[in-house]
Amino acid sequence: MKVLILENQELAVNRTVDIILDTVGRKPEAVLGLATGSTMVPVYHHLVSRFKQNGPSFAGVKCFNLDEYIGLEPSHPRSFRSYMQRELFDHIDIKGAHTHLPRGDLPDPVAEAAAYERLIRSEEGIDLQLLGIGQNGHIGFNEPTSSLSSRTRVKALTESTRAANRRYFSEREEMPTHALTMGIGTILEADHCLLLATGTAKSGAVATMIEGPLTAACPATALQLHPQVTIVLDEAAASKLQLKDYYHHVHPGGDPNPLMKQSKPG
Ligand code: PGA
Repeated sequence: MKVLILENQELAVNRTVDIILDTVGRKPEAVLGLATGSTMVPVYHHLVSRFKQNGPSFAGVKCFNLDEYIGLEPSHPRSFRSYMQRELFDHIDIKGAHTHLPRGDLPDPVAEAAAYERLIRSEEGIDLQLLGIGQNGHIGFNEPTSSLSSRTRVKALTESTRAANRRYFSEREEMPTHALTMGIGTILEADHCLLLATGTAKSGAVATMIEGPLTAACPATALQLHPQVTIVLDEAAASKLQLKDYYHHVHPGGDPNPLMKQSKPG
């Protein structure tokens, strides 16, 4: 696990965008796994402005989002499809047909989950999976006690997740109780997982994810099993890490590859 700690939220967001753009710059046909949530809003904002400044093109990129609420049509303003259109897809040159989210409004969500998993598997694999983390340690909507080898499926949302996301829904709107989410096993098949967490509210979940024992009680700990994970944090989200000094030492200034920049001996 690379743990990159940046001084503040803006620097952490920019470092995350660096890694996404680097992936697309090196592989114009990259397959990206994308995430939603408030943490990702500034990520997409910076990504769009850097795309507009000097690319790279997303015309060859395909993407798969982690999750979608059950019961919301894609056009519903609170659906993750609407979020992605608004925050990213409408502002870059990605092809509409290359953007995938599970459909939350189909009569058989179980069949839709299986179909989405098959669609992901029909690609050669996700090159870079972007992730946020919930205060309860969820990734995607894999709530605590999710199987660490789960595949895309229907999950009931915990009360804490519903409480955290209720602010996006008006008082008259019914907050969804279930979602379709990529499984933890699905997520772990990506070549590279990139998780961004900012703010003190995430510091407990972040410390457990990185330094706690592997447990379904904190699904994000499953990332400890993955050979290529980059965790990008601001100081607030990193504040409960016991080995913080070590992470600063290995990746000064949140530099992902400091050794590559050292001058060669002789
Ligand atoms: P947030 O959600 O970015 O809105 O905190 C993250 C998550 O629940 O994965």
